[in-house]
Amino acid sequence: MSLWFMLFLRALRLFVVNTLTRTSPTMDLRSGTPVWLLEAGSLREWPDLEGPRDADVVVVGAGISGALAALHLAEAGFDVLVLDRREAGRGSTLASTGLLQYEIDNSLVELGERIGREPAARAYRRSVAAVEQLGALVATLGHECGFAWRPSLYLGVTGQDAALLDAEARVRRACGIEVELLDARDIRAQYPFQRPAAIRSALSAEVDPLRLTLSLLRRAESLGATIRTGPCAELATIETGRMASVVTTTAGHVVRAGHVVFATGYESERYLPQPIGQLLSTYAMATEPEASLEDWDDRCLVWETARPYLYLRTTPSGRVIVGGEDERITDADARDALIGGKCADLVRRARGIWPSLRLAPACAWGGCFGETPDGLPVIGTPPGRPRTHFALGYGGNGITFSLIAAQVITASITGHADPDAELFRFGRPSLGAG
Ligand SMILES: Cc1cc2nc3c(=O)[nH]c(=O)nc-3n(C[C@H](O)[C@H](O)[C@H](O)COP(=O)(O)OP(=O)(O)OC[C@H]3O[C@@H](n4cnc5c(N)ncnc54)[C@H](O)[C@@H]3O)c2cc1C
Repeated sequence: MSLWFMLFLRALRLFVVNTLTRTSPTMDLRSGTPVWLLEAGSLREWPDLEGPRDADVVVVGAGISGALAALHLAEAGFDVLVLDRREAGRGSTLASTGLLQYEIDNSLVELGERIGREPAARAYRRSVAAVEQLGALVATLGHECGFAWRPSLYLGVTGQDAALLDAEARVRRACGIEVELLDARDIRAQYPFQRPAAIRSALSAEVDPLRLTLSLLRRAESLGATIRTGPCAELATIETGRMASVVTTTAGHVVRAGHVVFATGYESERYLPQPIGQLLSTYAMATEPEASLEDWDDRCLVWETARPYLYLRTTPSGRVIVGGEDERITDADARDALIGGKCADLVRRARGIWPSLRLAPACAWGGCFGETPDGLPVIGTPPGRPRTHFALGYGGNGITFSLIAAQVITASITGHADPDAELFRFGRPSLGAG
């Protein structure tokens, strides 16, 4: 054994994050047919891992979180290896309905009550910046990924919501986020439905999450990143220490790396000492292309104050996507059994908002979904796990949060602390006991 290797072993303060992966079944993250597969055409795939390898950073997970992290790290000059046991983008990312919103599931008023007004304002402003930065990034990719800027329309449901939305609009404006407050008359004049009030924001967008992920990975690859997907690219164990980490895959390949980024989505709970969020199931359906969307000419992203909320968007090919109908179940068979009924419920509820739409179902799907108590992502290094970074973009803004995670983790690995890292850290009081 060489002296260097003995020193390396001594420096390694071993702990095994997950020795059970070999025997734990892969989580069933989604079921049904997400609309992106109907329009995907031929997709870029990557080869499986064939042997041992070294890298500056291993990113485990080739969904939207892993793709954004890999690109940011490759841009920062690191030798990056991305590993995924599935094909790229085929985990929860494929189930996403692709709404890019700065508005998180907890309103700014609610978040302020939970974590304080100033941190809440910072979290919202960071979300606004993330949506803007995603738009700028997509513009440089040179691939069509269904990105379009859209206004978002946050609809009040009951009469009491008018006052809530008024308060929400005021706090958003106070922290520099421009919004329009619409009353019932404004809504009737501009949309073919009636609601007591709404907040309209310009700073939102829509995207095809699968194509975006594949484009980001291609860009990372062009900057030197290596992407390996398939059964031999499944992380089995990780041993991590002060100087380096050793990842072993289920095929027995060993990868030595300076840092490991877990972009493992809702399957990450098994790598953590305790749960950080609540997992549930959520549903979506997409229609055949509508004959006409002329009374939806701003193609706004629609969502509402009810919890769980219903949401609607259009696609470039003229389909309507409707999502919501969350259920507090995690069992995949139970989730699958509900898809047909949930599709019918989504159509019925969407007709309640937009009666002029035909809404003929083309496909429906369901997926695992995670939320944290404060509605913010969990990003960073858990206590006692040096060189290990988690990008857990839980919540309805998973994609926006994934960009923030890529930025915070890249800053941490390059030794430049992100000014907002504290908002998203493990163990923050607003996560509760977790
Ligand atoms: C129905 C639905 C609608 C949604 N709509 C939206 C939306 O409109 N907007 C939005 O922002 N978010 C939305 N989300 C949330 C969004 O889908 C997620 O936040 C996001 O896709 C998570 O991406 P990820 O890359 O973190 O996870 P994933 O896409 O699941 O990627 C994680 C990857 O890690 C891999 N992996 C896990 N463990 C291992 C291992 N041991 N070894 C190797 N690889 C491993 C998995 O195979 C997987 O590919 C929605 C979710 C659902 C279910």
